[in-house]
Amino acid sequence: MLVLKFGGTSVGNTQAFAQVAEIIARARAQDAHVVVVTSAMSGVTNTLVHAARAAADGYEQPYREARSDLLLKHQLVAGQLIEDGVERAAYGRLIDERLRSFERLCHSIYVLGELTARGLDVVSGLGERMAAPLLAAVLRAHGIAAEWVDAAEIVVTDANFGGATPLIEPTCARANARLRPLLDQGKTPVVTGFVAATSEGIATTLGRGGSDYSAAILGACLQADEVQIWTDVNGILTADPRIVPGAKTTPELTYIEAAELAYFGAKVLHPKTILPAIEALIPIRVANTFQPDGPSTLVLPETARDGAVKAITAIKHLTLINVEGRGMIGVPGIAARTFKAVAAVGANVLMISQSSSEQSICFAVPEGDAPAVIQALTAELAQELTRHFIDQIRAIHDVVIVAVVGAGMRGTPGIAGRVFSALGEARINVIAVAQGSSEVNISLVVDENDAEAAVRFVHAAFFAEA
Ligand code: ADP
Ligand code: ASP
Ligand code: MG
Repeated sequence: MLVLKFGGTSVGNTQAFAQVAEIIARARAQDAHVVVVTSAMSGVTNTLVHAARAAADGYEQPYREARSDLLLKHQLVAGQLIEDGVERAAYGRLIDERLRSFERLCHSIYVLGELTARGLDVVSGLGERMAAPLLAAVLRAHGIAAEWVDAAEIVVTDANFGGATPLIEPTCARANARLRPLLDQGKTPVVTGFVAATSEGIATTLGRGGSDYSAAILGACLQADEVQIWTDVNGILTADPRIVPGAKTTPELTYIEAAELAYFGAKVLHPKTILPAIEALIPIRVANTFQPDGPSTLVLPETARDGAVKAITAIKHLTLINVEGRGMIGVPGIAARTFKAVAAVGANVLMISQSSSEQSICFAVPEGDAPAVIQALTAELAQELTRHFIDQIRAIHDVVIVAVVGAGMRGTPGIAGRVFSALGEARINVIAVAQGSSEVNISLVVDENDAEAAVRFVHAAFFAEA
């Protein structure tokens, strides 16, 4: 069995839909059991989210405009690729119903003047619920037996709106119960990515970019032979091609390497995508919809050790927080209390670095979490601050983590040296450094203004560019 996931650009317009139908037909020739997962058409989720936010701020125009733009965008594809009049009319009714409910939702948000995370999940999930029925109809027009399935019927999550966590057991039970019969009838299910529901049936989402995660969850539940992530680049590259145009495909990565890259900002995979694959030992292939026979990346439990560094990535919009003071030396428990306070506000710590002199602890958090973290730390460490055991809690804003990733770094001397000479030559100031004990990653904190140059210089130190 194969699970094929198509991202927003892969279903971005008529040509892309036709290309996707071709790829699915080829997959079906290779394996009779194919499950498709689709994202919303490119730009649609953003449009939905912006319209809902604008409605909460008192603007009705954006959702009115969005309604007609979205109708046009989907109907254009339907009009060009679905010849059968009955099918086209059925899709027309579906999209009309979706957009009417979108308008009703936005109107309520406008009247209330408030947008909750729960409400936003209902609105933002509409994009996949317009794309999956369209793709299924396009496939049928290409002679492929296909049926769209709403993932809310399958993926059961907690109620953490905006980034819910799937509950694996009920999800797998439902995935098998809902999808196996379709596969046994020779049909290809086309499942909505990104969306899910609680066990009470309340709509949730897996977080932005979450369709990759949906595909991995279904792949693990169905014990697929491979999960394929079809996107708009030739697999996972040695760097983001928007920053390093000469970046090249990495043919193979281990799960751990891919997870580190995704976690540290390589947008090509949602950070949680690897988790279900690791447990089920399912290979993940990342390939280009627009160049299906071009280079691609295979993510596996183990790979041949070819090259120490596999890729460079960067994660933006962070704040570095420094807790510093000579009085911290030898005082037990400051680190524990620091991170307890950080955890209490639910902030996600991306990197920690402590100097060996123990005079400071510094860690990076998303910039949006920084004010709450500083407030919590100031309260937790109030006594130490008054007694000057801690001199200050300092925030350095607008920083970026540049991560150098590769399992072969372990036992390869000189990697850190090459990274620092590259940055030294480029006269880029490194604010903090951390190396995980797994040695799969060296993380450097630099100023946001230096981020792209840092990625380019470090990339050039390890890779020849095309
Ligand atoms: P999709 O809509 O298919 O899910 P995304 O936009 O989410 O696609 O992810 C693909 C994009 O990720 C690429 O177009 C590229 O700009 C970006 N990207 C960032 N880092 C990398 C990397 N190391 N390798 C490949 N793509 C990357
Ligand atoms: N459509 C969703 C988003 O834009 C999910 C995805 O594309 O993976 O975030
Ligand atoms: Mg994506």
